[in-house]
Amino acid sequence: MTAYNTLLLRLEGPFQAWGLPEARFAVRRVAPCPTKSGVIGLLCAAMGIARPEATPETLKPLAELKMAVRVDRPGVRWLDYHTVGAGMDRRTAGGDMRRSETMLTLREYLGDASFLVALWGEPETIQKLYDALRNPVWPLYLGRKSCVPSVPLLLDRTIPESAEAGDGKGQVQVSSLRAAANPLEALAKVPWQPRYFFEKKAPEALDVYTDWPLPGNGREEYVELQAARDVPVHFLPPVPAYESRVVARLKLRCGAGEGEIPVWDKPLYSLPKAPERPQADYTNTEYRRIRKARLRQDHGLCVFCKAPATTVQHVTYEHAGGGERLDELRALCRLCHDACTMIEYGHNMGMNRIDPEDPDWRELIIRKRQEIITFRSRETRSRMLGEKVSE
Ligand SMILES: [Zn+2]
Repeated sequence: MTAYNTLLLRLEGPFQAWGLPEARFAVRRVAPCPTKSGVIGLLCAAMGIARPEATPETLKPLAELKMAVRVDRPGVRWLDYHTVGAGMDRRTAGGDMRRSETMLTLREYLGDASFLVALWGEPETIQKLYDALRNPVWPLYLGRKSCVPSVPLLLDRTIPESAEAGDGKGQVQVSSLRAAANPLEALAKVPWQPRYFFEKKAPEALDVYTDWPLPGNGREEYVELQAARDVPVHFLPPVPAYESRVVARLKLRCGAGEGEIPVWDKPLYSLPKAPERPQADYTNTEYRRIRKARLRQDHGLCVFCKAPATTVQHVTYEHAGGGERLDELRALCRLCHDACTMIEYGHNMGMNRIDPEDPDWRELIIRKRQEIITFRSRETRSRMLGEKVSE
């Protein structure tokens, strides 16, 4: 029996709402594509894991799966004016009745979007998820409970051998279970589906949001990275806990020729190469002037930890080499700068770099700072004791 390490899911419906962890208040915005916490929540529903059972131990094997999302149709953002209560008794999650004022929220949705999600990891976990999705314990929904899927989540079906000819002579079994070197490879093998009759051409490339780096990727390509705080640690009441992950946003060419809709199992993916980024030029007088101005604007303090700043960080290299603008730099201390740079180099980041003021990066920077402190203190200790640094 083949060991399948990849599970493909089609997430499509009139509405989807993949809320961000902070979207629990009056304005509830949604992410542009399914979040890891949302997809894991859906898997928990399929397996019948209730919130009180969603402990760190239960969620760990799910959180460790690599996830990539292909945006087949981005959908339209839609904002709903929502009222709850209006002076009536309301049942709480705990089962009690509570009378309250009308609660107003603005809830965002994605209308008519379609995503293809690849989950990649331990074959045993993948098989378990597949079995659960074939026979889910609870109803499955796309982020919010009101968002019902309009097509089956699993790709399992039988299609004619030649999708174009459709003569019914040969038949191919298509399955959501795949064996792939990484989730991108699995996504690239699934043809893009036209939605309307007039969509005859597949888009040249599709947006993909993926965990980064992936096996077999991450060294050659310069990619645009962002941090997402959507890896669930647990869903235990009253407040679930999340960690951050590094997400690459890239364009996936699915290998089809001009004007051709890709067919099953033909192409392999290719990632376009990003242009080399310009370098900072420390001898450039204009750069030195703007650097000084930025340090002054940040009161000579690190924007991350408020220690005295000794350097600046490029949030983007778009105008590097002397054309930098004030809002493209941030004052940082040596430690925070080293932490940001190590994350950037470790992931081969492209033109846009880490903004240390962006709360999504916060936890990853703190973790890297701690690694540096631990390593340096060990090095210093060893030097003082005349010992070798050992791992
Ligand atoms: Zn600092």
